[in-house]
Amino acid sequence: MANQDKNNNDNNNFFNKNPLITFAIFSIVIIGLFKIVVGDGASANGTALGATNKHIQKVSYSEMKSLVDSKSVSKVEIGQTYIKANSSDGSKVYTTRIVKGDTDLVKALDKNKIDYEGFSETNWFTEMFGWLFPFLIIIGIWMFFAGRMQKSMGGGLLGMGQSKKMVNSEKPKTKFDDVAGVEEAKEEVQEIVDFLKYPARYVEIGAKIPKGVLLVGSPGTGKTLLAKAVAGEAEVPFFSVTGSSFIEMFVGVGAARVRDLFEQAKKDAPSIIFIDEIDAIGKSRANGANMGGNDEREQTLNQLLAEMDGFGTDTPVIILAATNRPEILDQALLRPGRFDRQVLVDKPDFEGRVKILKVHMKDVKMDKDVDVEEVARLTAGLAGADLANIINEGALLAGRRSQKTVKQKDLFESVERALAGLAKKSRRINPKEKKIVAYHESGHALLAETTVGAKKVSKVSIVPRGLAALGYTLNKPEENKFMMQKHELWAEVDVLLGGRAAEQVFIGEISTGAGNDLERATDIIKSMVQTYGMTDIAGLMVLEKTRQSFLGAGGAAAREYSDKMAEDMDTFIKESLQEHYELVVKRLEEYRDAIEDMVALLYKKENITGEEVREIIHSFEEKNGLESKLDDSIDEISEELKVDASMIDKSDESSDEK
Ligand code: ADP
Ligand code: ZN
Repeated sequence: MANQDKNNNDNNNFFNKNPLITFAIFSIVIIGLFKIVVGDGASANGTALGATNKHIQKVSYSEMKSLVDSKSVSKVEIGQTYIKANSSDGSKVYTTRIVKGDTDLVKALDKNKIDYEGFSETNWFTEMFGWLFPFLIIIGIWMFFAGRMQKSMGGGLLGMGQSKKMVNSEKPKTKFDDVAGVEEAKEEVQEIVDFLKYPARYVEIGAKIPKGVLLVGSPGTGKTLLAKAVAGEAEVPFFSVTGSSFIEMFVGVGAARVRDLFEQAKKDAPSIIFIDEIDAIGKSRANGANMGGNDEREQTLNQLLAEMDGFGTDTPVIILAATNRPEILDQALLRPGRFDRQVLVDKPDFEGRVKILKVHMKDVKMDKDVDVEEVARLTAGLAGADLANIINEGALLAGRRSQKTVKQKDLFESVERALAGLAKKSRRINPKEKKIVAYHESGHALLAETTVGAKKVSKVSIVPRGLAALGYTLNKPEENKFMMQKHELWAEVDVLLGGRAAEQVFIGEISTGAGNDLERATDIIKSMVQTYGMTDIAGLMVLEKTRQSFLGAGGAAAREYSDKMAEDMDTFIKESLQEHYELVVKRLEEYRDAIEDMVALLYKKENITGEEVREIIHSFEEKNGLESKLDDSIDEISEELKVDASMIDKSDESSDEK
């Protein structure tokens, strides 16, 4: 069935790709047909006289007149432009052009009693054709241009509103082993592989498998590769599209393509649909910038949502989508049953880079002098794609120098090139920034570990992610699914302030990196006053209802409390932030050496685990005879404390000029 479609498409393709030729063939056929059926004037009219095989002789008008006068003709037919006359013996047909304004001929016919009549030189066919011809030309020209337009957009005229040709599935050979340095992400998608392999197991038990998984990460971190590997591991067809390819000139085409894509994927189930750059269709509709916006995009998005809702969890079709800007996605896409699961595909840390480099070195002849770790050390902040490129560039350089193997110096050169290229795009973190980030993050980590009620650290990282999104994975208190107690909220404030305080204590100057932390700390205190009745400012009075923000963030509600209350609240927030900040600074000064140790370890490894953080704090406390502030009673692990959103925002915005 699929094959048949393909053949059809191949046929269509020829005509779609050559609209001019199509048009020419089309015209020739029509004109040819016209000639055959209508023929040229004289012979056609010979036919009309029922004298197909009679000899036709063109004569002058005066000759015709004398033929009439001599009664050499018997029957005469008079048209608009010419006259035909049958010779009396029936052997010939004479034709001549009419002379306008001459009436003598008719008089002569009357006089000689020759039978005559008028006739119409056109018949229904030529009449109709005369009407149709201009339209045919117009249609031809339209087809030509439409064809070109479609071609430039990768579609085809005859395939308009149909997408079968753009839905190409493959069965990738990519395996998880080909994707290196993103172990966490691989673990998270492992379950999907299992489901696609043995759907029945899950369906029988009634387990709900996620339909949509959003792969979040900077460009080149291996999102596409990971999606392919899922298909490769599960040995299922992989349907790959890019979000932007749905957005076509003609409204409705994108939606139709989505429909066809899902139809095909369901038919070939179990299967995987991969939508790269989903932000192209999934941009938030609430976003003011596209107000009155893009109908086509909206239709496409709606169709996608409808399709995702349209099949049950028992249909083994998994939709993987990639984006590096999850924060701009329409909330509707992220609801349960859609892309409700997100997998972070991070830029690799040192170890990850070693692994990725090794994967790509497998197929290249490397010299014995090559030191993978050295290359990995030099490439902090680069994504998998950059690393793959470095190896390839190195191989090209070696080839140009007619070497048999790739040497370390080739790799160095290629690293240098890559870095120079990226420095321009400022995707790489510079040493000064690295230092600030290291202290900032260590500050967060220390506070998280030494404050009662704070969530513990799972990982601290200074790997630049170029991901404006991280702030997005954080739960604001009002969106928190689980309850939080008052002291836990204050603990969170302390942890948030820890980053900025560390910058002040250890670097002596504040960067813009803490902006987002402060915003969130402020929000937390505000909610405690306004919503949770946790302070004396408003007592139990609720100043702000927890609002569903389906209208986007915009809808400013009228304030329902006094100016005095507002003033009190502002003062309270400001003062308690200051109070807590001072305490945090004190703590950092007390634990100075522990922070220095963390920073040193971060410099070495880029990522450090919560255990390592606790280890450092623990040995510091022992050495200094401090009573341990490490809290073992809480086993909640914070996933959030990685790189700060605000820290990244900066580097990302400048690099992502797209
Ligand atoms: P993304 O989809 O995240 O932009 P891709 O998956 O297209 O990135 O990565 C492009 C190429 O870079 C891959 O085909 C692969 O060769 C290389 N690459 C990227 N990330 C990795 C990784 N984690 N492991 C191995 N190779 C990688
Ligand atoms: Zn921070």
